[in-house]
Amino acid sequence: MQGFRRIVFLTVAVFLFASFRANAAQDPGTSLTDDKKGHQIQVVYVETQSSAGSNYHTNGRVKQYISQIQSWLKTKTGKELIFDTYQGQLDIAYLKYEGNIDMKNDEDLVRMYQKLNPTNYLGKSLIFVIDQKLATDTGCGWSQVGSGWSLALPNWPGCMDEDEPGIAEFLGLNSIAHVIVHEIFHSYGVKHACDSTTTNDLMHGEPECAAAGIVKDYAEKTTFDKSGLNYWGGNKAGVDLKTLRIWSDGSGTTEFAIPANLQIVPLVTTPTTVAPTNQTINCTKGKVSKLISAKNPKCPKGFKIKI
Ligand SMILES: [Zn+2]
Repeated sequence: MQGFRRIVFLTVAVFLFASFRANAAQDPGTSLTDDKKGHQIQVVYVETQSSAGSNYHTNGRVKQYISQIQSWLKTKTGKELIFDTYQGQLDIAYLKYEGNIDMKNDEDLVRMYQKLNPTNYLGKSLIFVIDQKLATDTGCGWSQVGSGWSLALPNWPGCMDEDEPGIAEFLGLNSIAHVIVHEIFHSYGVKHACDSTTTNDLMHGEPECAAAGIVKDYAEKTTFDKSGLNYWGGNKAGVDLKTLRIWSDGSGTTEFAIPANLQIVPLVTTPTTVAPTNQTINCTKGKVSKLISAKNPKCPKGFKIKI
């Protein structure tokens, strides 16, 4: 799409995930009643044709990724992102996709979500967490810069979803949580940041960083714009996230707006009914005159309307 660049984050790692099959809850894909108004990130769990049946939306795994992201961001920035919640719990919408997702049909998911939530999708960023085993040639996740939506594929073979104690703690972020927050930041407008002062920045990405001679070191803990020039305090990578109103503490001055050309389904706005206003007439009887105000005013008996 013109004006946007597809950004791919590829994690080359060992596939350690043990899957199991169980019935997924058939949520109709709609967002539950929002706890908050204003900008928020809706998590949408998608099962495709080659789903592993992991049920990450109902078994707490997605929730774990998000809470790990929040804690990690808190240590780095003192802030947390705003996720859509229902009664204080992460609201995870569910979609079943007949087929498999790749870069050619990924907008279908946005369209499906927007159709199911025609009155309230505006102002929400979307992160699709996709249960799909079929490889996409495009890695563990992707996003169009500034589009307001992104995808992550935890069951894609090659995306290591570490469960072993100590790994996430050592790296700071589980690699899937890393992918999710990396892609969310792309969707807010951050491009890949190739920072020569660190070898494992959150927004490190290819091919840009390899071209800049910076090799990613997976053994290093993930860093968050160490130089403060790229996306936190500076905007060399496209946007200074600190300035966006995307944080739960209400900070930031710039409203994040989803580009109009990516509002695939026209937003249904509920027409606001205007209460009829009172009309006033002047009624006279001889020298006496009365002003009568009502929605449909009538003169009292014996009075005539003075026009
Ligand atoms: Zn990327």
